[in-house]
This record gives sequence, structure tokens and C-alpha cells, in this order.
Amino acid sequence: MTLNPTNRPATPVIELRGVSKMFRTADHVDRAVLEGVDLTLREGEIVAMLGKSGSGKSTLLRIMAGLVGAEHGEVRFRGSRLTGTAEGIAMVFQSFALFPWLTVQQNVELGLEAQGVARAERTRRAEAAIDMIGLSGFNSALPRELSGGMRQRVGIARALVTEPDLLLMDEAFSALDVLTGETLRDEMLDLWESGRANIKSILIVSHNIEEAVMMADRIVILASDPGRIRAEVPVPFARPRNRDDAQVRALIDEVYTLMTSAAGLEPRVPVMTASQQIGYRLPDADISQMEAILDLLHESPFFGRADLPHLANEAGLTDDELLPACEALHLLGLANIERGDIIATPLGRTYYDTEPPERKVLFGKQLLTNVALAGHIRRELEASPDGEVGEEAVLRELEAHLEPDEAKRVLTIAIGWGRYGEVYSYAFHGGMLTLPQPEASEADG
Ligand code: ADP
Ligand code: MG
Repeated sequence: MTLNPTNRPATPVIELRGVSKMFRTADHVDRAVLEGVDLTLREGEIVAMLGKSGSGKSTLLRIMAGLVGAEHGEVRFRGSRLTGTAEGIAMVFQSFALFPWLTVQQNVELGLEAQGVARAERTRRAEAAIDMIGLSGFNSALPRELSGGMRQRVGIARALVTEPDLLLMDEAFSALDVLTGETLRDEMLDLWESGRANIKSILIVSHNIEEAVMMADRIVILASDPGRIRAEVPVPFARPRNRDDAQVRALIDEVYTLMTSAAGLEPRVPVMTASQQIGYRLPDADISQMEAILDLLHESPFFGRADLPHLANEAGLTDDELLPACEALHLLGLANIERGDIIATPLGRTYYDTEPPERKVLFGKQLLTNVALAGHIRRELEASPDGEVGEEAVLRELEAHLEPDEAKRVLTIAIGWGRYGEVYSYAFHGGMLTLPQPEASEADG
């Protein structure tokens, strides 16, 4: 934490006031992706932004970078209204976004070329940035000759070379293996603490709760649909931090709690009503991971209850696997989330006591009663004279509620779950949904 003896708030680097962003769906319906976002980043702070996939984090970052405009609200960078990309703001992408045909040096110089910096100075500054991020000697390498971690170093060097006041990092470590990601993240923190990179503020978008707690001075949590800031948590620990420190663990726990309540997973929050709409964004949850969680709950010394960070560890799941799986279990009425703990419902307990064939029946029954899209597909099939419905028809209906890619994602999940629960079958060839074949179903009647 930056000490601030005068008690005066540090100078804002970027300020967002009432920022809203709409996107138009295929049916020309406007959908709010972000609504009324207020956020200020001040000199000397690292802020982490957490939120589930689709909550609008990348969109917000693109707005802050001036890459896209917002319909409502205002973005001020160093006191002036931001109207497009600006010198002084740089971004690092999850996908690295390097030009494959350019060398490391050329990729890094690109940022300066755009600013019209003269050639000799470009060369000198790019070399310094490459050196700072530990890539000296690789200046003439092509991206394909580098490992993922080194490619992301190039992405970071390209941002640092412009000596930005504001550095925006969009899941910059997520595409890397855990160890490489952690190394790079620690090196970023060293650079920040040393002041060598001369950055005033960093915004890190992440879906990794521990990463946010280890890096940030403050964490903001985005809720979905529409994306808005749900909670802000200060992280009052000096860096470097020890992840095993009791206070750090406690804060990680608290953030898990906030994340799950921001996702509407707490009981009494009307998530069930939401899932009664066919356009509900089903979470990307793997059924075997959901079942693994139920099994671990079964073995839990606390009778079907476990603390989420602990469970993530036990099950070897990352946050972006664990949270969707928990949301799915909740949707299906198999578990509830309370204050960062997951608790099997009575039905969830029955689930892990049953054998695989009965599990499927139970799964299918819960799916039909709790997930509107699955129930809808089943009814359409029953109403159809030949017991068939093309997936294209369902997609078109979904596109009245969701963007095309999102509609496809949600339908794929509903198909996977429905096949598992034997609520319907699906022929990949031809994309046809059908009623389950009698011999495949032991659940007649
Ligand atoms: P996150 O980074 O939190 O996963 P995004 O900002 O990428 O979320 O996306 C938020 C929502 O906005 C998603 O539903 C996404 O499909 C939608 N979206 C993003 N960009 C566009 C676009 N150009 N057109 C239509 N919808 C978009
Ligand atoms: Mg994103």
C-alpha cells in the first residue's frame, strides 16, 4: 500500500463515471453489457478486477484504453476526457497479440512507431524494455521460436516501452502454465515496486482470486448482466505477500464469498427465476468436475460442507473451473453457496449416494425442472411430429436473448447436460436434437 501521509487522496490517473455499454443482438435488441460503472484508479495503486466470464471485464478495459466508446458516461484520463486511444495508456492481452512475422524487437517497437518516435530512439527504448523484462538476446527471434511465457514478456515489453501512466492487463497470465504465470506476475510486482517501469497505476483483470489478492492494493468485483461493480475490497498488506499467511488466507476467503454472492449464488437471491428464462447464461461447467465436487463434499469432515478455496485445492480446480461448477450445482438444486462455503442440498447428498445410472436420472430430472432451456427443448421435441428439432431452430430462438457466439456456447452446454441426463439425444452429424432412444433410457415412466 502506498503511504499517504497527507491523507489527501492520490491524484486520479483514470476516472470512469456512469459508464454503460450496449451491444446489439442478432435480433436488433440492445443489451446492456455494462451499466453505470464508476471506477477511479489513482497514482500508486494496483487494482485487480474480478468477475465471471462474460461480465464485461474485457469490454471495460477496451473502453478504458479508448479502443471502443461507451454509450453513456464519461472516461477521464489524467483529467481530460478520453475520446480515443491515448499515449500514456497501454494494454497487455491474454492472447499476447504479437505479429508473427515481426521479430521481438520489431514487435516491441510497434508501440513507439504509432507515436511517431524517431528510429534511433525507438531502437534504444525497445532494447531497454526488452532488457527490463528479461528478454535480452532474443531481440531478433520470431514469436514462434519463443515459449508462451517469453511471448507474453514481449507483450509486456511492447506495453512498457511506451512508458505508460496506466497499464491495463487483461488476464495476461491466464494463458500461461501456473508456474510461468506466477514467475511473470512476481517480476511485474518487482518492476512496480522498483519504480523502474515508471507506471503510475496498473489494472489487472483476472479470474484468479489468489492472483488478485497477491498483487492488488484494491480489488473490484464485477457482477454480470449487466456488468456493474458489486464490491470493492482493499488489500491492506505490504508486498511481497505470503499466500500462506493467515490474514492473506482470510482475505482470499472473503473474496470467494463476495464472488459467489456477486454471481447470485447465495440462497434467496432469485437466480432460479433467472434460470427460468431460456437465455440464462449457463455456466461452462464440466459434469465430471461437478460430480467430483459432490464426491469431495461427501467425504468432507463437515458433512457436505466445504470452504471454496479449500475445495479448489483439494479438487485441483482453478477458480474458473470451480466457480462455474458451483454455479451449475446450484442451478440444478444440488448445492447451495453460503458465505464462501458450498453445501450439498439433501438432493445433492442423495446424488453421491446413488449409482451412475440413477445419477443420470436424477441429473436429468433436475435439469428439466431447473433449467428453462432444457425444458424448452424437451417440450419442443415432444410437440414435434417426428420427435426431432434442428439445433439451428433453437439457436435462432436463443439469439433473441444472446449474442450469436454466446447463444452457441449456451446451447452447447444445454446439449451436453441434456445428453448426460438423457433428456434428449443429439446427432452431431446434421445437428439434430431428438427424444432419447428407448434403449438408451432406463428412466421410462
Ligand atoms: P469478460 O471479459 O468479462 O469475459 P467481455 O467484456 O468479453 O466479458 O464480454 C461481455 C459481454 O459482451 C459478453 O456477453 C460478450 O458476448 C458481449 N460482447 C463483447 N463484445 C461484443 C461485441 N463486439 N458485440 C456484441 N457483443 C459483445
Ligand atoms: Mg475477457
